[in-house]
Amino acid sequence: MRLLLHTCCGPCSIYPLDVLREEGHEVSACYCNPNIHPYREWEKRLDTLREYLATVGVDLRVDDRYDLKQYLEAVLPYAYDPARRCPTCYRIRLDEVARRAACEGYDAFSTTLLVSPYQNHEGVARVGREVADTLGIPFYYRDFRSGWKEAVRRSRELGMYRQGYCGCVFSERERYYRGGQKGG
Ligand code: SF4
Repeated sequence: MRLLLHTCCGPCSIYPLDVLREEGHEVSACYCNPNIHPYREWEKRLDTLREYLATVGVDLRVDDRYDLKQYLEAVLPYAYDPARRCPTCYRIRLDEVARRAACEGYDAFSTTLLVSPYQNHEGVARVGREVADTLGIPFYYRDFRSGWKEAVRRSRELGMYRQGYCGCVFSERERYYRGGQKGG
């Protein structure tokens, strides 16, 4: 099938792309991540992804609007509550990718978020299915987490840039202020 894969960064794209292409799917990647803060970080992750995709021959679509305003307005009510903030963040990104997939005649959409053991996996899957129901395009679910360690190893071997936080300004804060021990 023709599949549009929401892609959060280069390292997370390695394993899902391998699996999906081995299964015979025709995959294009879509970088749609207005959550990533600051903009330079957004650019750095995009550059890393672009370079990698060129080496493996995968098309890349980019949502370059970087709509930080829409993102912040949606997540601010849950800024310090990842259990609600992250699904909201997933929805913004998957909704946009699913809309593009539907408009451009893809058979389904999916996301590299399904590879990371650090994401709320059930939340990603639930939001993906809800978006699919709303927009009428299938969400291709797959638990890619078994490939995470191997992907980390390969991304290091390839010298890829590996970010130290999920993406948003809140996750950047959370890596330093675990449990509020440093105030904030
Ligand atoms: S921690 Fe990650 S998934 Fe959660 S809101 Fe921030 S960027 Fe989005």
